[in-house]
Amino acid sequence: MNLVKSKKIVKISNQSIERHPVPVLGIDYKVKIIYKNIKITELDIEEKTIKISLPNKYKKMDNNEILDLAIEKMYEQIAKVEIERAMEKYRIKLGFAPEEYEIKKINTLGKCEKNKITIHPEIVKYNRKIIDYVVLHQYCHLKYKTHSKKFFDMIEKYNPNYKECELSLLNI
Ligand SMILES: [Zn+2]
Repeated sequence: MNLVKSKKIVKISNQSIERHPVPVLGIDYKVKIIYKNIKITELDIEEKTIKISLPNKYKKMDNNEILDLAIEKMYEQIAKVEIERAMEKYRIKLGFAPEEYEIKKINTLGKCEKNKITIHPEIVKYNRKIIDYVVLHQYCHLKYKTHSKKFFDMIEKYNPNYKECELSLLNI
């Protein structure tokens, strides 16, 4: 019964806006926008598709800003989980951790200042190899402030293929 009902809703609000694919963990997701009888914007991730439901009242408006905001919030939520995972991975491997870390929009993907690591939430556009590399890079800055030989020796010890990650970040 419920299934029939939800099919009807989809059919009524079959109007969609074309958006560029959105990368999540290195994979491009299609964005599908649907209008529903709801009060606030909803976002669901299905297989290779990000489904954003907007209230019917937004139908005739330019919704690009609302959609950008929904995608930004999605990146922040995924970043909380992914950065926590990578932080924990290197805390165990290296045996130390930053005093604190923060997920915040900055003008680079990651930085380390005064024992504090900051990571840009949009790091989750890239795959886990890149996320882990950026987190490891900042961890190594807790020991070595500059990009010295000792710094890169330390990175190499924990990620022998780190140069691949640096190259793919350069090509972005
Ligand atoms: Zn650095």
